[in-house]
Amino acid sequence: MGRFVYASNYSPTGDLVVVAVCVVMLILMLFSYVRRTRSFKIFLGIISLVILAANTDVAFNMLAARGRTELLPTVQVLRCVYHALLFCIFVLFTIYIAEVTRLSKEKKRLAALVATGICLIVIAVDVRDTALGVNMTLTDEGLVFRGRGVFFYGYLAFVAMLISLLAMVGKRLYRRVMLGFYGTIAMSFVILLVQRLFGQSSFTVATFLFPVIGMFYIMHATPFDATLGALDARAMEDLVHFNYEHGREFRFLSLYLRAFDEEGKKIPEALRATIRRFTTEFFKGALLFQVGKGHMILISEERRNPGYDNRLKQFLSAFNDAYRRYQLDYKMVIGRSIEEVSRKNEYASFIRGIHRNMEDNTIHWIATQDVKDFNVSEYILRELEDIYHKGNLNDERVLAYCQPVFNLQTGKYDTAEALMRLQLDQTGMVYPDQFIPLAEENGYIHVLTEIILNKTCREIRRLLQEGFQVTRVSVNVSASELKDGGFCDDVTRIIENNDVAGEKIAIELTESMTDSDFLLMKDKISQLRGKGIKFYLDDFGTGYSNLERIMALPFDIIKFDRSIVLACGENERSHRIVHSLANMLSELDYSVLFEGVEDENDETMCQRMFASYLQGYKYSRPVPIERLSAYFEKAA
Ligand code: C2E
Ligand code: CA
Ligand code: CA
Repeated sequence: MGRFVYASNYSPTGDLVVVAVCVVMLILMLFSYVRRTRSFKIFLGIISLVILAANTDVAFNMLAARGRTELLPTVQVLRCVYHALLFCIFVLFTIYIAEVTRLSKEKKRLAALVATGICLIVIAVDVRDTALGVNMTLTDEGLVFRGRGVFFYGYLAFVAMLISLLAMVGKRLYRRVMLGFYGTIAMSFVILLVQRLFGQSSFTVATFLFPVIGMFYIMHATPFDATLGALDARAMEDLVHFNYEHGREFRFLSLYLRAFDEEGKKIPEALRATIRRFTTEFFKGALLFQVGKGHMILISEERRNPGYDNRLKQFLSAFNDAYRRYQLDYKMVIGRSIEEVSRKNEYASFIRGIHRNMEDNTIHWIATQDVKDFNVSEYILRELEDIYHKGNLNDERVLAYCQPVFNLQTGKYDTAEALMRLQLDQTGMVYPDQFIPLAEENGYIHVLTEIILNKTCREIRRLLQEGFQVTRVSVNVSASELKDGGFCDDVTRIIENNDVAGEKIAIELTESMTDSDFLLMKDKISQLRGKGIKFYLDDFGTGYSNLERIMALPFDIIKFDRSIVLACGENERSHRIVHSLANMLSELDYSVLFEGVEDENDETMCQRMFASYLQGYKYSRPVPIERLSAYFEKAA
């Protein structure tokens, strides 16, 4: 039985540390939330191969160190397997990069093909050389390695290929992610260099480890908000996708707290503790996601929570206690996974849509109608998007309706309010409550206003040409539009293009403005008033009216909201307050308009409260703008 000397610098420490780090990562994956995307499967494959390669490296070196000739074939095979494993990792790296950069199917396939090709060639050459004893031979001095061997060149080829692949697709990656990858690869080079300096081979597998750690950290670890226990919206999308793909039913509980729906508003620690408790106490394996400011969704799997409804009951009763303690306005939505919403992966916007039609401090249980409504608003949103992109000021989908306003001084109709409707193929007529909030949230409102303004100006011009007396028509403008730098120019341009005097147009603004909006509003109003445009304060009495602030803005007409008219009819005290408020405003030279006057009772009451104008169903419902001529009179 022959023996040989195996003089190697190899020590198993490098590979053992690699295995240990891999195990640590697996533990972390178990106890953190890992995004289970497609690339995560590839990532798991890479980790497994790294562990295998490290172990094979240890095995082949240990066996070689025994120096027994009859074990030599096994040593040779193990060494080939070890090399093959490392090159398979290279192939997976390539596929991984192609996956996370979302290359097209063809390009992904090409990358995988090239990588597999190089890998197979290297393995074949390595096996041949080993069989021929080219790179590892038994001499009098013992077992020696000769030359650099195909492994070395293959390694270089792969590194070069991966780096050029990264450089090629780098534009598709967020720069920090790219730099993260490059940084970890650079670390591998340092290790290789040091290893060569010391004539070592113990840390070759370790060079594969750093990019792996990089991938895990950058691409798959989703940090928990450590004190709230919440994950982010992306993480929720991944979970929904995973559950959908695996046909797993889940339940969700959505909580919206208005108080924290503001930039920089932090949830205080006591409430955080309560939320942490709610996240863990009632449902097994539940995960909390923070999908927006003040908006959280708790998802738990159906099969892990038998008797869900009972748990829910306990949850709600505890929630009630918490509500009594914190007294924060909320909206809660409760439901189970819905095939259609899961497929589109749009729970957050689905629930946001439901919030729009929900009162504060109520619970909404998802019903099939909600999904239908959601589909309708998705459709409306697509149409709005299209209207926005086309930017056609005569777009036929946007209808200008008008409600004539009764002028008490003249006893005639000579002003009106323009009100918007949409006329869409699949839904027919759509009313403002169904699309104005959508348009505002998505930044499409200003185009709509421009269209209404344009159509209103066109009609005013026609009426004037036909000899009708038109004092002015008011158009509603959303607060968000005023923030746009070009607002005044847009308005002026449209009015001038239609050859209408500024005096014929008024703009209605609501009082829902924050401190930062105030100065801006003041500036814009002054600019446009310079062109003769009048300003109405809309919905007076619905918000938290700040009289001082309102007085500081140069409004011409104050529109008392319909809720005020209703309150006056029901309650003597309200009546007296509104009476003196209207009195004061008219003495300050504001004109007072009451909205929502529906019958004679309303009319006489408002008339006595210093009204200059009355508007409501009593006089007319909103009608297509072309029918205004039925109300306005011709000059004598
Ligand atoms: P608003 O400006 O307060 O408009 C008055 C709303 O009250 C109109 O509803 C009108 O049809 C309704 N109304 C009028 N008289 C009566 C009445 O006697 N009784 C009752 N119960 N209601 C009456 P509409 O047209 O559905 O508009 C709703 C809201 O949508 C408007 O409230 C306004 O805030 C918004 N809106 C409408 N058109 C536009 C627009 O062109 N631009 C913007 N930004 N918002 C618009
Ligand atoms: Ca209005
Ligand atoms: Ca109003």
